[in-house]
Amino acid sequence: MKWRVGEVTVTKIVEIEVTGGSRFLLPQATPEAVLPIGWLQPDFADERGRLKMSIHALVVETPGGKTGGRRIVVDTCLGNDKENRRIPTWNNLQTSFLADLAAAGYARETIDTVICTHLHVDHVGWNTMLVGERWVPTFPNARYLMGRVEFAHWTGQHERADMIPVLADSVTPVWDAGLVDLIETDHRICGEVSLVPTPGHTPGHVSVRIASQGEEALITGDFMHHPCQIARPDWSSTADSDPDEARRTREAMLTDLADTPILVIGTHFAGRTAGRIVRDGDAYRLAI
Ligand SMILES: [Zn+2]
Repeated sequence: MKWRVGEVTVTKIVEIEVTGGSRFLLPQATPEAVLPIGWLQPDFADERGRLKMSIHALVVETPGGKTGGRRIVVDTCLGNDKENRRIPTWNNLQTSFLADLAAAGYARETIDTVICTHLHVDHVGWNTMLVGERWVPTFPNARYLMGRVEFAHWTGQHERADMIPVLADSVTPVWDAGLVDLIETDHRICGEVSLVPTPGHTPGHVSVRIASQGEEALITGDFMHHPCQIARPDWSSTADSDPDEARRTREAMLTDLADTPILVIGTHFAGRTAGRIVRDGDAYRLAI
């Protein structure tokens, strides 16, 4: 799946897509509450009101020219062979993610930049891959951009026991390889791509803004996990580190995006994944 934003292309590489089983993440999104939001079907919910969710990476390719084109991977999913994950089905994955990435024209050696919108387990996995007994950087020719605030938060406090294996196998190896650049939450990557601070889900969470030839897109990261939160911005995710701040960020972003031509590309949105935010009563919907 591919979108054009001016001269920039964005390509979705799916790692896994699941229906149901997301109640732990969005407890208010019961089937009874989801079914009346008719526009969620068929892309984002099934006919029984069960949520569909996707874990995918988005490859942003900017045009060539004097400064050369960029090949940027936004978020690196769960990864293969990882262990000690809190969610049982996220252990020891053996997906064709890297082959799919190469088949889309993006062999891992050709990626020059990796952006982690935040450092949760499903956004850092393919930072590394298992070679023999060692975790090595999957993208050896890339700079890995991680937020200074985000990095300090997770490496400075280890009371979140579930983060310890994630840092050890997916963050520390790229840090030790000297590939990490710590950046501010409003960092500009190149002429067309910059970061937008969207805190609350995690302290240093960012979204990714793309602008080219008068067209614009926004890659959400996890300030929204599912399009049902466009209709119900007050529905919080249990994964939000500061639910109040996350809700304020979500409401502010939706207000800004509503009734604009900005293409919103959801980091966990299944199906067709992207659309425009339009006002719908006292909330919003995603127009695909
Ligand atoms: Zn996530």
